[in-house]
Amino acid sequence: MLDQFGRNITYLRLSVTERCQLRCTYCRVEEGICPKAKELSPAEYERIVRACMQLGIQKVRLTGGEPLLRKDILEIVERIAALEGLQDLSMTTNAQMLPGKAQLLKQAGLRRLNISLDSLKPEVFHELTGGDIQPVLQGMEEGVEAGLLPLKLNVVLVRGINDGEVDNFIALTRENPIDVRFIELMPIGDNGENTARRISNQEVMSARPYLQPLPARYPGQPSSDYQVPGYRGRVGFISPISHQFCADCNRIRVMSDGTLRPCLGVDREIPLSSALAQDDEALREAIQTAIFKKPAAHRFESCTFAERNMSRIGG
Ligand code: SAM
Repeated sequence: MLDQFGRNITYLRLSVTERCQLRCTYCRVEEGICPKAKELSPAEYERIVRACMQLGIQKVRLTGGEPLLRKDILEIVERIAALEGLQDLSMTTNAQMLPGKAQLLKQAGLRRLNISLDSLKPEVFHELTGGDIQPVLQGMEEGVEAGLLPLKLNVVLVRGINDGEVDNFIALTRENPIDVRFIELMPIGDNGENTARRISNQEVMSARPYLQPLPARYPGQPSSDYQVPGYRGRVGFISPISHQFCADCNRIRVMSDGTLRPCLGVDREIPLSSALAQDDEALREAIQTAIFKKPAAHRFESCTFAERNMSRIGG
């Protein structure tokens, strides 16, 4: 359906949990706290997605928190994948628990994976996330073997920490059918001094004039894609700060407790709980109203920090 600014909303990011076992320095600073907002059941997520599809949603990405922490993640994938007419179902994961699961996810109906990997150096990865790089590398391999393609690696650059690794990430696209995407650090939640360490994608791109621009894979794609001539994978730049792409935004977010957030960068949220307790028509109406009122643009540039961090909203 079209929102009040005529944008066609076709993409849903569905967070299935706020829980995460990592503590990425720019994402969640509340050390040791593991918020446990209400999580809906697989059947409730299926109902929400079905209602969204009736309003024009065609693609769904499962996220969190860490979606693989849900013990019933395969059932969630199965139920959503079975909805007739869905064009794409993907998942964003930190891959800590991916080894041994990629094939099962594929069988359940998942089509693609985005894996977050901010450093290829074990000690830097640990410093940034508190996690272990080994399962991520293994999970990546298994994801490619399982055919969860194109597999995309998300990299958030933080000045002085991992900005020296840009070329190592680009080198991964030489032989592998993976896309590496550099995401500008966003002022979401209380990510403290990290915001001052943001690196503009323009800076990264202009230092690499050999990158050749490619057409977008699909309309409304947030990344600008490039390729090193002759390499297999793409290099994408997602630049919400230096190159706002709100005019083409086609997405909404539903958080793990069933709250709809029309824009990542505006703290306006619409709880669907009471509509969920009613019939499908009431649910559709609530979603329709929320989509229609989607804000024109995020407010990151005016430094209005979102109250929730990404792991609570669903990145
Ligand atoms: N746990 C999953 C994961 O790590 O991929 C999914 C959730 S995580 C919040 C999704 C993505 O958001 C990750 O790639 C993470 O790097 C990114 N992210 C978190 N906080 C961010 C911020 N302030 N700015 C830019 N990206 C951020």
